[in-house]
Amino acid sequence: MDWKTFDWKNQKIGKKGNILTKTTYKCGFCMGTGIAPCRRNIPCPVCSGQGIVNVSPPAVICAYCNGQGKSYLNKDLSCIVCRGKGVVAVENKNIETCLDCNGKGRERGGLPCLICKGKGVVIKR
Ligand SMILES: [Zn+2]
Ligand SMILES: [Zn+2]
Ligand SMILES: [Zn+2]
Repeated sequence: MDWKTFDWKNQKIGKKGNILTKTTYKCGFCMGTGIAPCRRNIPCPVCSGQGIVNVSPPAVICAYCNGQGKSYLNKDLSCIVCRGKGVVAVENKNIETCLDCNGKGRERGGLPCLICKGKGVVIKR
């Protein structure tokens, strides 16, 4: 049993489309620093300066921002899919890659995929 629940190194290794079962993650937007990446002297708006965020499992790495927490169209803004967390909750573990966007979570114009809502995965039917 591994009690190192807070594995900073491993937490983003999970590939896109893999189920994550933790509840606490490093904040994607500030990369765990707690400081807003665009304005150095204010606390990160996503995690309120905590450097960590809570997401109820099961979850997946946000495909739209690649876990970075930043908007694909404007890197100064937090990702609209995961709200900057870098991780998004999914309904259940029974997921598969979204074929519409090929797991990228994006449509051609850079907007979140309408089918998977930017998660890159959909619930299996
Ligand atoms: Zn943050
Ligand atoms: Zn995102
Ligand atoms: Zn999709």
